[in-house]
Amino acid sequence: MGETLLQLKNVYQVYGSKMRRFTALEDINLNLSVGEFVALLGPSGCGKSTLLRIIAGLQEASQGNVLYRSKPLNGINPYASIVFQTFALFPWLNVLENVLLALKVKGIEEPERTRKAEDLLDRVGLDGFESAYPRELSGGMRQKVGFARAMAVEPELLCLDEPFSALDVLSAESLRSELLELWTEGKIPTQSILMVSHNIEEAVFLADRIIVMDKEPGRIIAEHKIDLPHPRQRKSSEFQLHVDEVYAILAGQTQSEQEELGTAPGEAGYTRYLPEIAISDLTGLLEHLDEFEQTKHDIYLLEDELGIDSDHLLSLAEAAELFGFVSIAKGDIEITPLGQTFAEASILARKEIFASRARRLPLMQWLLKMLSNAEKHQLKWNVIQTALSLEFPPDKTDSQIETLINWGRYGELLTYDDGSEIISLETKPDKTPVPQTI
Ligand code: ADP
Ligand code: MG
Repeated sequence: MGETLLQLKNVYQVYGSKMRRFTALEDINLNLSVGEFVALLGPSGCGKSTLLRIIAGLQEASQGNVLYRSKPLNGINPYASIVFQTFALFPWLNVLENVLLALKVKGIEEPERTRKAEDLLDRVGLDGFESAYPRELSGGMRQKVGFARAMAVEPELLCLDEPFSALDVLSAESLRSELLELWTEGKIPTQSILMVSHNIEEAVFLADRIIVMDKEPGRIIAEHKIDLPHPRQRKSSEFQLHVDEVYAILAGQTQSEQEELGTAPGEAGYTRYLPEIAISDLTGLLEHLDEFEQTKHDIYLLEDELGIDSDHLLSLAEAAELFGFVSIAKGDIEITPLGQTFAEASILARKEIFASRARRLPLMQWLLKMLSNAEKHQLKWNVIQTALSLEFPPDKTDSQIETLINWGRYGELLTYDDGSEIISLETKPDKTPVPQTI
């Protein structure tokens, strides 16, 4: 790593009046070095955007020091630029003019200005849309213009505030690999990137270091280094290990894994039943818990609030705890940062979180292993049933298999064909993007 670019020392941000003070950031200490790509993860409201605004000099911290190349930051940081989740473009300017303006502000003259703008638009895949107006573009395309504009400034420090979360899956994926290529191959003069993300896989895919924050008050709770070379293989065991470790930080795991999860069928120990719940109900519970200011909630209140009976509620709470989405103690249920991340994530990111957590369950591991050892990676329902009946009473076996299938389907770990009663291992196309030449 190179020299230190940015330094935050004991930074606080307090909002509100003397009567009602609200600490949005508490004692933040953070260094960014030349050559570093850092991701910032944490639940909504933990102060991520506030932190970026302070770094870009769009607002002044209530307390503490912000140093840029060892000098105190005064007003707008001329070396930093931010890409927001939804980028504000000038609606009366077309795509090309929006980028030209950024270059003009930087003092770049014609004809270099137009050449550069066209090149930038080309790089982000907007070739042919130069004369379109923002209102004619999809969210994904607008975001690409935003990227082109931020890059036109050639910032030393590029701050990205959930830049991919408003995009559809394909646009996000292509823009992500575009950014990675510009960055790793030194095609942009940017020295350091700080990216806020809600997507753990995305963070592990891109960043050298992940900083995890929590809220009330907004603070840094952990840091995780990722020293894998680029391009990273999402399916490799090293990659998955990092993803798991970051999940564990967010879930705040304290119990021993063994005790909490039970053992796989056939092993010494006891095989824990899966709580037999529908994913949509689990999602509903987490979305509900995520709506409250307080992370803690009385469990008994949820019966009325969700309109379900206590048996159902307890199964849901058990499932949520098994996945690390909540912790339960003394009649309180508390949503974890991972639970909040899940509740606030897109459908696809939810599936990924879910899959990664489901893969930890010994019963699911056992099933996936059976499938991967089977011919064509397929097994009939009754084969699984026979194997599991050694473990569970007959009336439990079928409902446990159903739960495994429902969860496995949702997490895209396996598929099931009702007609033939065949369970198959999901063969996902590798999402690692093919490097493209620009
Ligand atoms: P994040 O980006 O992590 O979701 P933000 O930085 O947007 O978090 O906000 C952190 C907290 O500070 C939130 O509770 C938010 O409501 C509060 N907040 C943000 N900006 C202001 C402001 N200008 N005045 C008062 N409270 C604010
Ligand atoms: Mg934000």
